[in-house]
Amino acid sequence: MAEFDFYNEEFRDSIATVDKEGKRIWIYPKKPKGKFYNYRNLLAYFYIALFLVLPFIKIKGQPFILLNILERKFVLFGVYFMPQDFYLFAIGMLILMVFIILFTVIYGRLFCGWICPQTIFMELVFRRIEYWIEGDYKDQKRLNDAPLEGSKIYKKLLKHTLFLAISIVISNYFLAYIIGMDEVLKIISEPVSLHLGGFVAMIIFSFVFYGVFARLREQVCTTICPYGRLQGVLLDQKSLVVAYDYVRGEPRGKITKDSKTFVSEKIQSSPAAYETIPLEKVSENSATDATSIFQKNLKGDCVDCKLCIHVCPTGIDIRNGTQLECVNCTACMDACDEVMEKVKRPTGLIRIDSIEGIEKGKRNVWNGRVLAYTVVLVLLIALEILLFSVRGSIEVLLLRTPGLTAIEKKEGYISNLYNYTMINKTPDNIIARFRLSNSNGIIEMVGKEEVTVIQSKKSSGSLFLHFPKNQVDPGKNNVIVEVIDKEGKVIETVKTTFFGPPR
Ligand code: SF4
Ligand code: SF4
Repeated sequence: MAEFDFYNEEFRDSIATVDKEGKRIWIYPKKPKGKFYNYRNLLAYFYIALFLVLPFIKIKGQPFILLNILERKFVLFGVYFMPQDFYLFAIGMLILMVFIILFTVIYGRLFCGWICPQTIFMELVFRRIEYWIEGDYKDQKRLNDAPLEGSKIYKKLLKHTLFLAISIVISNYFLAYIIGMDEVLKIISEPVSLHLGGFVAMIIFSFVFYGVFARLREQVCTTICPYGRLQGVLLDQKSLVVAYDYVRGEPRGKITKDSKTFVSEKIQSSPAAYETIPLEKVSENSATDATSIFQKNLKGDCVDCKLCIHVCPTGIDIRNGTQLECVNCTACMDACDEVMEKVKRPTGLIRIDSIEGIEKGKRNVWNGRVLAYTVVLVLLIALEILLFSVRGSIEVLLLRTPGLTAIEKKEGYISNLYNYTMINKTPDNIIARFRLSNSNGIIEMVGKEEVTVIQSKKSSGSLFLHFPKNQVDPGKNNVIVEVIDKEGKVIETVKTTFFGPPR
């Protein structure tokens, strides 16, 4: 029986998917099944439905979500954000970052296995197609080792055609989140020459997605994604991760007729009280610590079947401890639970738990770090809500026309010429007028009295301000101009300066 070495960390010097020569080791994970896999499938159906439906949803003519980085146009929940709202966007990004950090500190990398689109599409769409066409892991390996003929050509062609077709769909939807579904439909339905740039982007994205799901696969999570790299600094002894209960599981070994396990003895005497077997309880079995259990040659609950390794999409052995390659997909939990049921031992030998939970039976995610991140997150959310609530429906810029000073356009008045720009941040058209606040000057529009600003667009023009000569100081005079809507309600107030001639 192999002894468990608590301190052997050699496995951290290399990753499971690269051999000593630096060549890729192709992973053939066993088809997962079980309770957690079923839950993940249900969630995946929900996410995929959402992914496919969201680009078609509009609120008052605006897309529900649009992240047009190229044109700096962002719409979230139907609310239009302009470059002028960048501070809201920046705070929103900070909230997201702090939330991810907090979530990781508490729940480890659960996001990767259960929410990340890469894992959802890879494990629950592409991998399922592969199992359907090529069979389970052993059949896939046999097929890959076989010469390229007959059924292999057919299966590979079918698989890659389906992979490419799904990649094209994903690429089109991905673009829809950037440029909008209306634009994507135009690229698809109108002549290519009218949308050459969009068409080329579609082709490039399609092949990128195909490459990711057909070839790159788990490498995205283990070597490319920066979030995975952050794990090492974010996790601590209290973080909940997919973890192997080595206290209960070790020393591992095959079951023989006269196998004696310290854990199962304990469970038989008090099954209801069983959660984990902390070290103190181990000592009740006349062993003083984990090392002395090995000396007494008692067996833990791990039967060393290696099923947890066979199902792992990143090819690791979770029994070695938390590793950066683990995406918390919980496939090993399902596999191990099945084995435990067969050998009539309690499930949960691999479970979501913290190191503290496994070693001491304590599960308390709260510590100073979690508290500090929570406070920062709450403050940032409060600030975002406050700034969002005072955000106006219209943004107005009113500047004196460069190069022009004071003129006498009207009898007894001094006049300045201004350029204005109005930006409508709402999904409705706005009809606005200017008026002076608390002064007896006159506004003279160049063109129409009223300015119509189309939803999410801007409108520009010019106007004159006239003030009686005797009320204007030489040099700069501060002026407040109000912008009012059709009902006479002030929707924006602008400060500008009026230039008076020297006396
Ligand atoms: S160790 Fe388990 S949870 Fe982690 S990636 Fe492998 S199968 Fe998924
Ligand atoms: S599946 Fe469970 S019993 Fe089998 S090797 Fe993994 S941890 Fe041990």
